[in-house]
Amino acid sequence: MNGTTESGSSGTAESLTASTVAFIGLGNMGGPMAANLVAAGHRVVGHDLSADALAAAARRGVVPAASAVETVPGADVVITMLPAGRHVLALYRDEGLLAAAAPGTLFVDCSTIDVTDARTAHEAAVAAGHRGLDAPVSGGVVGAEAGTLTFMAGGGADEFAEAEPLLAAMGKRAVHCGDAGAGQAAKICNNMILGVSMVAVSEAFVLGESLGLTAQALYDVASTASGQCWALTSNCPVPGPVPASPANRDYQPGFAAALMAKDLGLAAGAARATGVDATLGLRAAELYEEFAAEGGADRDFSAIVRAIRRRSDR
Ligand code: NAD
Repeated sequence: MNGTTESGSSGTAESLTASTVAFIGLGNMGGPMAANLVAAGHRVVGHDLSADALAAAARRGVVPAASAVETVPGADVVITMLPAGRHVLALYRDEGLLAAAAPGTLFVDCSTIDVTDARTAHEAAVAAGHRGLDAPVSGGVVGAEAGTLTFMAGGGADEFAEAEPLLAAMGKRAVHCGDAGAGQAAKICNNMILGVSMVAVSEAFVLGESLGLTAQALYDVASTASGQCWALTSNCPVPGPVPASPANRDYQPGFAAALMAKDLGLAAGAARATGVDATLGLRAAELYEEFAAEGGADRDFSAIVRAIRRRSDR
């Protein structure tokens, strides 16, 4: 059974039952997410391989642990926020996280990882006598700080219900998408739409320029016509029409092109594995991979318009 929950605000400690949470991966996303759990009244014991990340989290109320395994004793829930599936699986299995946890512990992985890895992680947790939920996020670092992330969850309904108060402390919305891996599937499908639509919007602006159309004129038409989409009206790739879009601040992210390249790579891998003819998704993955490798990695993903201009000799 699928479901959606909305949370009016983060940090409503009085409405929550306090949990003890182990939190591993306190980077750009995990650091503020763990801090929001602390602010909501939970006890958070955290670890990160980076001493700086661990110290920053400790300043925000996270109890620092010297290793990942040391976060786990006494934890009701173990949350991971790591770069890729190999980190999650290594931690769960090789580094002994599953073995160290009390039977029945809920393992919630919020990292964006391959759907197959998410299912493998879930199976490993269950085989070790625990429970699992994949719960990747959208909303970026700004959403992680503000506690306004959206969670896309995959796993059992009971596991989702148990995790929900914690997700509500870190985000404004949580959607139960289905069984193990469904959260990751929703994440990469959504970002494939976003990556393809950003390329399409950017190509249209460059074509419009080449035909003597101003960016504002194209925006005024497309934003209220059938070309309307988030890439155009919220994250417009050219400066001017949408004052808040990263294009107006030299493409400072926002959502970095490297992360879009990663998510499109996961979508492309899933499309190949399942035999889906995702022609545009695969091409968008190549374009973002090239753009990131050519120096665009740290720019907002809307800066892909620059690569299109370059290739068009404009
Ligand atoms: P990050 O690199 O800032 O943080 C990851 C942290 O994990 C690092 O601090 C690293 O030291 C730590 N780490 C790695 N292996 C570890 C281990 N074995 N034990 C302990 N710590 C370990 O990355 P991030 O931006 O926080 O992203 C985390 C995840 O969230 C990624 O999967 C990313 O795709 C996803 N995500 C990021 C954003 C974003 O805007 N940054 C948005 C949505 C989703």
